[in-house]
Amino acid sequence: MNIFSVLLKNLRMGPATLRFPEEVPYPKGFHGPVKIHTEKCICCGMCAYVCVSGAVRVAEHKDNCEWVYSPGLCTFCGKCVSVCPVEALHMAAKSAPSYFNTKALDEVHLVPYSPCPECGRPTPPVREVLRAKAFKGVAPNVLVKSLICQRCRQKDSQRALVSIQVKGEPPPSRSDK
Ligand code: SF4
Ligand code: SF4
Repeated sequence: MNIFSVLLKNLRMGPATLRFPEEVPYPKGFHGPVKIHTEKCICCGMCAYVCVSGAVRVAEHKDNCEWVYSPGLCTFCGKCVSVCPVEALHMAAKSAPSYFNTKALDEVHLVPYSPCPECGRPTPPVREVLRAKAFKGVAPNVLVKSLICQRCRQKDSQRALVSIQVKGEPPPSRSDK
């Protein structure tokens, strides 16, 4: 094939690039920006803990926690998605839009707290999926304790210790467990 026939063939084929806004299809499993399902999140902060780029931040407030994501800082490694204990995160199947500064695409999501079943104080939510994983086979009267706030849990432990001491039994030591 001589050079002229190659040129002719290329001219007949037309341009290989797509005109904007057309896009080439993204490959399966593409790591795009991180997305959150706030209805699943338990505000544990694991995603923020493992993110070395500081692209995810979790801030606790009185009535909710704030999940903040900066796609402009994200390296799309997927670590946050893999450590989330309740599968509240996934990665979009397409890339983030263009931006002019790293904060331009920042997202803030609020995860509301649930009322503690004992005192009513707002407390980070415990989802069924987590209870099923972490407390499988636990008696229902004990299982309800997984929903109570930290302060009620501390009070419960103190009451249990006092009742043991009143009965004259020594408090349980680590070696008893
Ligand atoms: S994908 Fe990686 S860099 Fe992006 S938020 Fe998650 S852990 Fe951080
Ligand atoms: S998204 Fe997942 S890892 Fe991050 S705070 Fe919520 S539950 Fe925890």
